[in-house]
Amino acid sequence: MADQANGQPAWPACETEGCRGRRIGRSGHCLEHLTERQFDPTIVQLAAARRLDLRGTNVEPARLARVLAQFAGDDGRPSLRSLDCDGATFQGDIDLTGMRVAELCSFTGARFDGAARFDEVNLTEMCGFDEVAFAGPVSFERATLTYGSFELTRFAAGASFAGATVAGLSMHKARFDGPARFDGARFAGEFRIGFDRVTFAGGVSFRAAEFTAAVNFEGTQFNGHADFTEAAFLATASFRPSWTSGGQPVRFGGGASFDGVRSAEPLDLNAAQLAAPASLDGLRTVVTRVEEPFDVDDPEVFLELVIPSVVFKEAGLGGRDEIEDPLDEALAAARLGRVTGGGAGLGSVVLDVEIEHEADLGRAHELIQRVLADVGLATGAELHRRDPD
Ligand SMILES: [Zn+2]
Repeated sequence: MADQANGQPAWPACETEGCRGRRIGRSGHCLEHLTERQFDPTIVQLAAARRLDLRGTNVEPARLARVLAQFAGDDGRPSLRSLDCDGATFQGDIDLTGMRVAELCSFTGARFDGAARFDEVNLTEMCGFDEVAFAGPVSFERATLTYGSFELTRFAAGASFAGATVAGLSMHKARFDGPARFDGARFAGEFRIGFDRVTFAGGVSFRAAEFTAAVNFEGTQFNGHADFTEAAFLATASFRPSWTSGGQPVRFGGGASFDGVRSAEPLDLNAAQLAAPASLDGLRTVVTRVEEPFDVDDPEVFLELVIPSVVFKEAGLGGRDEIEDPLDEALAAARLGRVTGGGAGLGSVVLDVEIEHEADLGRAHELIQRVLADVGLATGAELHRRDPD
């Protein structure tokens, strides 16, 4: 990526004053600023190596189409070894239908001002779309992605991955402002499929989608209708809050349909928040119903967490609640225990923690350590076992 601190791009930049585009071939210019005389020889040279580097470049759709025509294989589909478009700006509707990229394919931080078509692309290695801003509709229909990363990506006007084949995926904290479709998509592979903390602001459809790989919807926010009709979860599917989700529960704000869903394991929606009725007809393996929040009935272990005030202040923490709340939430979400009381004074902050089962003590310990580290208290706190009062 560009070194933003001093404004210099991390790549040899175009000779045109003020342009951050990647210089390509021997031209001294980026794709946008190639002269008409330079254009063909430069592109022919790049096409021979099958590598295209458009980092930081303003890409005009007609120019891109001319370039891709040079990269076309025998079947007419653009075929590249690598495509690097980090930080590029695509200034209109882009059509990359059928494109194959055998090695690196990266669009990290790119901006698409118009529609973006990636239908039937085949991206063989990891493809990076992290922090991309798609202003127009996006289509990856029938695409084959070996590992797609779309972390923090913004889909502002709808997206379709219908019929796609995906071996690994991370959509961590992506946001879909328009409708999203994954109908008939197949998620199969050795990697995890992560929709953790994704926000679907509109409706989303996973009709007849098949998850052969483990999938996580931890902390996913479904603000519109979530349609999982006839989806198949053939490996683990998690709809629980977790560390990946920062303890945030999955929320179905606009109703959900799980009609006809097949699931290899009981589909646990107990921790999900359902703001509207969910339809679960024919979902036979579900263990469901929104439950009361987890509570300890008959705790087997009583702990006391002692944090010296000086450590607490050094971590920049104001009040006891800044550790108490996340700790209580995390313990409850993991169904291990609760924070049941506490106090401050005499040079320390003290929290009372109750753990339901002795056998979970190791996991509880780890969880507490992680929460402490998360709020800046990796060291300095002490955890004691105490007698029940
Ligand atoms: Zn330029």
